[in-house]
Amino acid sequence: MSLPYAEPLTVRTPAPRVVPEPPRRGEPGGEPCGICTGSAAPPLWGDDHFTLHAPVGSSLPGSLWLASRVHADSFADLPAAAAAAFGPLVARAERAMLSTLPDVGRVHLYRWGDDGAHFHVWMIPRPLGMLDAMGHFLPLWEDVLPAVPDDEARAAVEKVAAAL
Ligand SMILES: [Zn+2]
Repeated sequence: MSLPYAEPLTVRTPAPRVVPEPPRRGEPGGEPCGICTGSAAPPLWGDDHFTLHAPVGSSLPGSLWLASRVHADSFADLPAAAAAAFGPLVARAERAMLSTLPDVGRVHLYRWGDDGAHFHVWMIPRPLGMLDAMGHFLPLWEDVLPAVPDDEARAAVEKVAAAL
């Protein structure tokens, strides 16, 4: 595993803390929620609780994100039925990614939630054999590698959606 940057890197001092933190998208005082207002990438699949979306500007075809249908912030805020459906859906999505995308070493699931207050998770396929990108390094590599055309990224997710 390694960072996608030339080394040696140095550890810097964190910036001073900002408290209270600025509002995120979808919070009072913040920008409108892109998912609720429809300005985010449109869903390519959905069920009663979640929708599936293709990324914009991604370097790893098949990367996708799942969002809750309701504007809930975190796992703790999801309605009970959605929380119960989450695990089985992620398992189905992982199987669909592994069966439809070429050369996937492993599928990683990430949830940050720092930009927006609408529950969503990322599922990112690590390219087979790309050991540099194992674990928490994968989203860093995804960020710095050249983006594929959005049509290509969407086509990959459409295959995953069809397999769900
Ligand atoms: Zn929302």
